[in-house]
Amino acid sequence: MIKINDNYLKLPGSYLFSTIAKKVAAYCDANPDKADNIIRLGIGDVTLPLAPAVIERLHSAVDEMADKKTFKGYAPDLGYEFLRNVIVENDYKARGCDISADEIFISDGAKSDSGNIGDIFAQDNKIAVCDPVYPVYVDTNAMAGRTGEYNTDTEKWSNVIYMPCTRENDFSPEIPSDTPDIIYLCFPNNPTGTTISKDKLQEWVDYALKVGAVIIYDAAYEAYISTPDVPHSIYECNGAKGCAIEIRSFSKNAGFTGTRLGFTVIPKELKCGDVTLHSLWARRHGTKFNGAPYIIQAAGAAVYTEEGKKQTKEQIAYYMNNAKIIREGLETAGYEIYGGVDAPYIWLKTPEKMTSWDFFDYLLNELNIVGTPGSGFGPSGEGYFRLTAFGSLENTKKAMERINKA
Ligand SMILES: *Cc1c(COP(=O)(O)O)cnc(C)c1O
Repeated sequence: MIKINDNYLKLPGSYLFSTIAKKVAAYCDANPDKADNIIRLGIGDVTLPLAPAVIERLHSAVDEMADKKTFKGYAPDLGYEFLRNVIVENDYKARGCDISADEIFISDGAKSDSGNIGDIFAQDNKIAVCDPVYPVYVDTNAMAGRTGEYNTDTEKWSNVIYMPCTRENDFSPEIPSDTPDIIYLCFPNNPTGTTISKDKLQEWVDYALKVGAVIIYDAAYEAYISTPDVPHSIYECNGAKGCAIEIRSFSKNAGFTGTRLGFTVIPKELKCGDVTLHSLWARRHGTKFNGAPYIIQAAGAAVYTEEGKKQTKEQIAYYMNNAKIIREGLETAGYEIYGGVDAPYIWLKTPEKMTSWDFFDYLLNELNIVGTPGSGFGPSGEGYFRLTAFGSLENTKKAMERINKA
């Protein structure tokens, strides 16, 4: 008889975004005349179409698949070299990071990679996560049986080290007193929109090297960084190749959320005893993974052409102009705000005596604006709220007018 993986049963029932969708649907049912008035500044998904250079390459790659001479079957395990080479040149060599093309593993996205990377680690590793953070790290470790038991009162797992990131510590995690084996860091951060300085990140690298931990660094929002001394890659830190895995995505920098493309960097010198983590992940890629399709990898390489770079930069500038409008709008209305400078997320402190969900209800019911309660990203997110810059310019402006009239 089959036995299920009952770690799945320990996962807390409802996913944040399904709760939000239910609340919005209920509001629209009760107020049908208001349904068209709702402005969505909640979801972390891009809204602009793929850049013309990307679309053009998608079309030509499809034509290649129609011709016997240029048809492609299974992609190479690590991904096509043409893509890994331009990644190395543009994302690493250009920033002084000594990463080589055979240390890059192309994938169908950062969500898959950040969830699957746990496959190569034993079950009894202890994980540490920023709190609040992108929920995928904790949830996938829970599925693997690594997180202990979930406490519905504290909303914490018994075997996870939570590193609070709040206004008290500038949203920068402190080295925990309990020693972790696997440390998840995400900068620029989702949901707080804040970054980490190079010195602080170096402290984390030094710490991981000292205690023999691995850092899994999620740099999905790297392309949004505009402040000069904020690190784009963990490999800008000394010694990081000996302790860090980096995960990247084409989703937020080039609009591939529906197209699917990302990659993971595992330096060859990253070891556990005599075993390189690179060899384990390569084994996994060769066995459990089919790779991103040729047409998508070809389109990904188009992001690094001169036109592709220019066009994707314009998209990011569009979103970051929205972020500026949100920052200014909220500041004028007297809110305490964070983030939104090097990331498409603005993190606000909810007004006195209002929980994250109270503020959600207020925005939905009174102003017809949908955002995301901070508490949905971890216990330390309580009392905060996330707005995103992925809306249209028109709606973003309109939302700020409503907030300032309230
Ligand atoms: C959106 C997001 C991702 C997801 O990337 P995909 O490549 O679309 O799977 C990864 N990490 C963080 C922090 C994100 O916000």
